[in-house]
Amino acid sequence: MKLDELSVRQIKGVSAQKEQELHAFGVHTVADLLDYFPFRYEDYRIRGLGEAKDGEKVTIQGKIMSDALLSRFGKGKSRLNCRVAVDGVLVNAIWFNRHFLKDSLTAGREIVMTGKWEQRRLQITVAESEFPDRGASRSGSVQPVYSVGGSLTQSWIRKTIHQALTQYGSLIEEVLPFALIEKHGLMARKEAVAIVHQPENAERGQAARRRLVYEELFLFQLKLQAYRALTRQKVQGLSHVVGAEAIRQFAATLPFELTDSQKKVVNEILIDMRSSGCMNRLLQGDVGAGKTVVAAVALFATVTAGYQGALMVPTEILAEQHYRSLQKLFAPAGVEVGLLTGSMTERRKRDVLAGLQMGLIQIIVGTHALIQDTVHFQSLGLVVTDEQHRFGVNQRSVLRRKGLNPDVLTMTATPIPRTLAITAFGDMDVSTLNERPKGRKPIKTYWVKHSMLDRVLGFIRQETDLGRQAYFICPLIEESEKLDVQNAIDLHIQLQQAFPDLKIGLLHGRMTPAEKDASMDAFGRNEAQVLVATTVVEVGVDVPNATLMIIMDAERFGLSQLHQLRGRVGRGEHQSYCVLIADPKSEVGRERMKVMTETDDGFEVARRDLDLRGPGDFFGTKQSGVPEFKLANLDTDLAVLEQARDDAAELTRREDFWTDPALARLQGILRQDQLFEGDLLD
Ligand code: ADP
Ligand code: MG
Repeated sequence: MKLDELSVRQIKGVSAQKEQELHAFGVHTVADLLDYFPFRYEDYRIRGLGEAKDGEKVTIQGKIMSDALLSRFGKGKSRLNCRVAVDGVLVNAIWFNRHFLKDSLTAGREIVMTGKWEQRRLQITVAESEFPDRGASRSGSVQPVYSVGGSLTQSWIRKTIHQALTQYGSLIEEVLPFALIEKHGLMARKEAVAIVHQPENAERGQAARRRLVYEELFLFQLKLQAYRALTRQKVQGLSHVVGAEAIRQFAATLPFELTDSQKKVVNEILIDMRSSGCMNRLLQGDVGAGKTVVAAVALFATVTAGYQGALMVPTEILAEQHYRSLQKLFAPAGVEVGLLTGSMTERRKRDVLAGLQMGLIQIIVGTHALIQDTVHFQSLGLVVTDEQHRFGVNQRSVLRRKGLNPDVLTMTATPIPRTLAITAFGDMDVSTLNERPKGRKPIKTYWVKHSMLDRVLGFIRQETDLGRQAYFICPLIEESEKLDVQNAIDLHIQLQQAFPDLKIGLLHGRMTPAEKDASMDAFGRNEAQVLVATTVVEVGVDVPNATLMIIMDAERFGLSQLHQLRGRVGRGEHQSYCVLIADPKSEVGRERMKVMTETDDGFEVARRDLDLRGPGDFFGTKQSGVPEFKLANLDTDLAVLEQARDDAAELTRREDFWTDPALARLQGILRQDQLFEGDLLD
């Protein structure tokens, strides 16, 4: 019998209706229910008064010395009072709004009470109480607390899981290899699952949790590492044949010399591309560090070797922009660059698709449209994906199933401290651009109150008088895109009135792609001196003449987003500025503004962000690609994650990983994942 094939209906006491409600919590099988872990414990163990800490929750037992006194006050509210002898001390016990307990609270009776203890007054405010003469059930134990809802109550879930353990507990199978269990002194799975639901004490509960957290993180890393090992060793990727001289000549046609950091990263990429394995590399670098040029060199390398390259970006604006800049960079080399976006006319799309299929287009820039079914490459050699758009392992497997095994380079401007990067992107190799192009001046950042808006407008005047340009970013209003747009429109009108002699551009999410392009173009050509925008400019926009970034209601943005926005200026030789307009109410909000004014180094910003938020929250963003865990908490379990990563890497590097019978269970788990379907396995 397999627990993951047994419906929860098989458990005594689970009706059809309860089954439905369990489905809402993602619980379908007995295995799901047994893996429905508590998120904390309630400690009902009975303490001596000496152990009771002031202001904390405690469970104590004693004898009632006086009948309870009931006082009522207003709107059905009431209070019960009685004296209880605990360890020879007279304790004052009070209950709020439990008048129905009055008759049970009689002198001479034993009682167990759980509630908040006040040392000075020797008083307990009772939240829960039980009478041993009625067979107390909770007291003396540690009880799990589950997330529940609907008609599923805490006690029902506790009872049902208990029942499931009684019926099926003996069938729980081990998943971890014995060697790892031994190495880390872990509990067996069977034992750990039973104890995590019913710990006899906190220490055992902790040990059980440790084992299950390790298992969860290990299986997460195993998938990444197994895929990584497989694509490295077994998948016949492309061996790009590119000479150093060709690259050197191409680099010489660039409008500037590559920084040392860019050169180092280019070399790391070329080593991957020349090797027969599949490149799967993450390029991280601060905004403005010059990732696009690195991508261009890699794309040039694939073309030189006789393949096609693709650059995939999240938005159409970015696609257009990269298309134009790559066209410029590749013109001297005579490389044909194409563009493919969703909003192109059918005719133009057809032409581009034909060009790709015949190999006439050597480099294609586009949005997600690039990996659609209708797109056929003649010989795709390299896929570069830009910014937030992490090209997940699953998308790579889409390409692979099309019979393509291109090298993949993923670029991100959200720098993650190195250890965390290795962890989050466990399936990737990481290259880091840690130097900005020479001659860049640090961006000066100021934080001002809303009341200083007039001075901020003066700042715009000062910069535009110098021939420079400014961005004015409107706050993003999560709940309502409509309000968002309205804000931008209002601000646009306000600025037009304040600067009748300037052209003020507008860019927001409700505009058509053509309108957005026109607006972005005008700003790019300095036909508009100020651009009022919602956060659509966040990624990748490159207008070197813009020197002033103003962010309204800056406290509404996260640190990394603020840093991204700031990175839109400081891209040319002129001194640039960032002005944050904010009256933050929270301490964290003020701290964020401080971080921004103190550093413009993206890695430092990320480190401080991590300190402020903790890794759990840091990773809890869509961008990170890290799933939500059932039990593991990255704020506290980071060390376990790193251990799990190392263990998984070591295991999957073994020659006999896919054949060793001792690892059959792990192989089975991986084979169920679509990632490992098809030709990958022997
Ligand atoms: P990002 O890493 O944010 O994508 P970009 O690739 O857009 O950065 O580069 C930012 C700006 O710096 C661009 O205008 C680019 O032309 C310029 N740039 C890139 N590399 C260099 C370099 N080595 N020297 C001078 N300017 C450079
Ligand atoms: Mg970029």
